[in-house]
Amino acid sequence: MRQTHLATRLQGIAPTIFSEMSALATRTGAVNLGQGFPDADGPPSVIAAAVHALQHGANQYAPGPGVPALRQAVARHQQRHYGLELDPDREVVVTTGCTEAMAAALLGLVDPGDEVIALEPYYDSYAAMLQMVGAVRRGVTLRAPHHRLDVGELRAAVSPRTRFLLVNSPHNPTGTVLVPDELAALAAVAVEHDLVVITDEVYEHLTFTGHTHTPLATLPGMAERTLTLSSAGKSYSFTGWKVGWATGPADLVAAVLAAKQWLTFTSGSPLQPAVAHALDHEPEFPRQLAHDLERRRDLLCSGLEAAGLPVRVPEGAYFATTDISHLGWADGAAFCRALPERAGVVAIPAQVFYGDPSGTGPGAQLVRWAFCKSPEVIAEGVSRLACADLAR
Ligand code: GLN
Repeated sequence: MRQTHLATRLQGIAPTIFSEMSALATRTGAVNLGQGFPDADGPPSVIAAAVHALQHGANQYAPGPGVPALRQAVARHQQRHYGLELDPDREVVVTTGCTEAMAAALLGLVDPGDEVIALEPYYDSYAAMLQMVGAVRRGVTLRAPHHRLDVGELRAAVSPRTRFLLVNSPHNPTGTVLVPDELAALAAVAVEHDLVVITDEVYEHLTFTGHTHTPLATLPGMAERTLTLSSAGKSYSFTGWKVGWATGPADLVAAVLAAKQWLTFTSGSPLQPAVAHALDHEPEFPRQLAHDLERRRDLLCSGLEAAGLPVRVPEGAYFATTDISHLGWADGAAFCRALPERAGVVAIPAQVFYGDPSGTGPGAQLVRWAFCKSPEVIAEGVSRLACADLAR
């Protein structure tokens, strides 16, 4: 009889929640406020550029580090927005989305037993990849209700074995955008303990009134120790294109490429020039998207409040989180699994983004709702919630 085989490095890693919850939405016909993908595509000129590339020979392997036009456009983007100067040939590598950039960064840089500090809650792929590389993960919790960085907790998490700091801002799932004091504290700890910092900045352009994103690489002493990851998925509403990049010092970028070449080798040949076009010729799109998202955030947040779900208003990204502790459920996962039947809506239990996803940890009662959907979809979702009996 065939045995079920699974390597030790993967044991205990739960399947990604996004597949489970999107399948649940499809199966039940529920409004999908779970997985974070927009329901409208990005700029038509960018699609036209991809079609042009498809029809004009960009159908074989792209160079391993990415097509030069895209690497140059990424370097210009970092210069234009943040004043960061990058050599497109040595300090930029194109990846299959930011998820591959993160995977390749961890595979390329982290040795078994290295301690890696990550802001908790963390995006689920970080925990999976850290386990696969044999790292020791130390979470520093952005604690509810305000989800701010506790500098004391950060300092206490550092040990002689700490080598990396993993930072995500604007933050998924809490919507926190780190403020100058928090960034300065992270930078101070990194410099003091000689840590390499890996930042996931995929929501870099999606910040709301009163909040702006500052890359950690722009702080004094940080450019030489920071690997910055981002992608076109969120900024240009092409999440399915999976075109991302890593930028930073040549040695860190080389480590990403060293691992990446054995993962996908290269991908998205016709999409890479189209993303270069987006970065160079559609600079207004992300700003307009952020403006639209802010109104959708407000629609979702007021709807959740009206449905009896106290909400933490996010400062950036695609998601709002609510606390369900008053509703009597054991944990957010039980709530989310019952929600399609109760209310015809799908959401994500934030506990899966915590080191202790068991339902008793600090995120057990938090539920994440996506607002990167059309106003009609959001309005339908919250009106269903308002009509439903959400109590256990
Ligand atoms: N980043 C998206 C989210 O947080 C999901 C992407 C995925 O499904 N891997 O919802």
